[in-house]
Amino acid sequence: MPITATAIPLFTDNYAWLLRDAATGATAVVDPADAAAIEAAVLREGGRLDLILLTHHHEDHVAGTDAVRARFGAQVAGAAADAHRLPRLDHALAEGDTVRLGESSGVVIDTPGHTRGHIAFHFAEGGVLICGDTLFSLGCGRLLEGTAAEMFTSLGKLAALPDATLVCCGHEYTAANARFALSIDPDNTALQARAAEVTALRAAGRPTIPAQLAGERAANPFLRARDAAALADIRARKDRF
Ligand code: ZN
Ligand code: FE
Repeated sequence: MPITATAIPLFTDNYAWLLRDAATGATAVVDPADAAAIEAAVLREGGRLDLILLTHHHEDHVAGTDAVRARFGAQVAGAAADAHRLPRLDHALAEGDTVRLGESSGVVIDTPGHTRGHIAFHFAEGGVLICGDTLFSLGCGRLLEGTAAEMFTSLGKLAALPDATLVCCGHEYTAANARFALSIDPDNTALQARAAEVTALRAAGRPTIPAQLAGERAANPFLRARDAAALADIRARKDRF
């Protein structure tokens, strides 16, 4: 049975995600950095929270974890590699591990680059990819702890998922990413179309996320980079943009 993914806007541009297993009503939240906002979202959905998923250790992703755990009694799952700097984990995860949410299951994908212990979650039946600060719409995370080669490999794993996969990332950075992407790939018609769509969505006060993976493959310059050196060059230019 599929799961549904709903964005919960936090702070200025963060997204937490509420995942709900349609068959059982089991519910998870991803990156609950603002406990009050997460509590309100969970209560709106009926007050059940089974699982907290963490993509990486940054405060704008994990800050509310212990408060949300205490409030709802949920289990916490995150990367074993970063267990020393994450909230206490009930499930310490590595590449290929499975997280269960009711009758749905998600596979853990190791995605270092932005941070060393960054992980993503792919719920194949719902077509949902939870990717934190690794892949953004039209962008990718900064290389704060990893190398361009690591990020290239991480993005390659995500890009190999099915076309219709919904990219549920950790930030609403799409408009700024579109400006940069157009500066280096101005003749890309898929990018032009996505940029126009993003402008319209933001003008209407609507999120640009989730994005479809097929569209990202066509328009995102970081997914279109042919090798790690090309990715390093584009990332360095974006850092200065
Ligand atoms: Zn981050
Ligand atoms: Fe972040």
